Amino acid sequence: MQLDHLAIAVADLDAALTFYRDALGLELEGIEAVEQEGVRVAFLPLGDGESRIELVQPTREDTGIVKWMAKHGPGMHHVCLSVPNLESALARLAAHGCELINPQPVTREDGTRYAFIHPRSTFGVLVELYEKPE
Ligand code: ZN
Repeated sequence: MQLDHLAIAVADLDAALTFYRDALGLELEGIEAVEQEGVRVAFLPLGDGESRIELVQPTREDTGIVKWMAKHGPGMHHVCLSVPNLESALARLAAHGCELINPQPVTREDGTRYAFIHPRSTFGVLVELYEKPE
């Protein structure tokens, strides 16, 4: 299991880059619009590039992150851990009574599969699990 990314919700991606890229000095790997989820994401790799910071800006009013930001304001949104086998990780969590936001994994266009665990089960942090394509 490894830290894949920390996602930070921002209202304005370009403004956030003036801190994370320009002032802090992280490298900007790229910016991607994810239509399916109504967000724009900037990827800023850390260290060996296995982990990264993702700045997430909503691009539609009907996305979950808009509701989240209305409640919490901008800030750290979730932690993502990559796992070798998502089904077995979810089965293990379910067996421990954890509340899964996605009991079935969701597949992104790039083939990455993910599922979120509810903060009620994680002591307050939204946790995402990732399984990358082979
Ligand atoms: Zn994520």
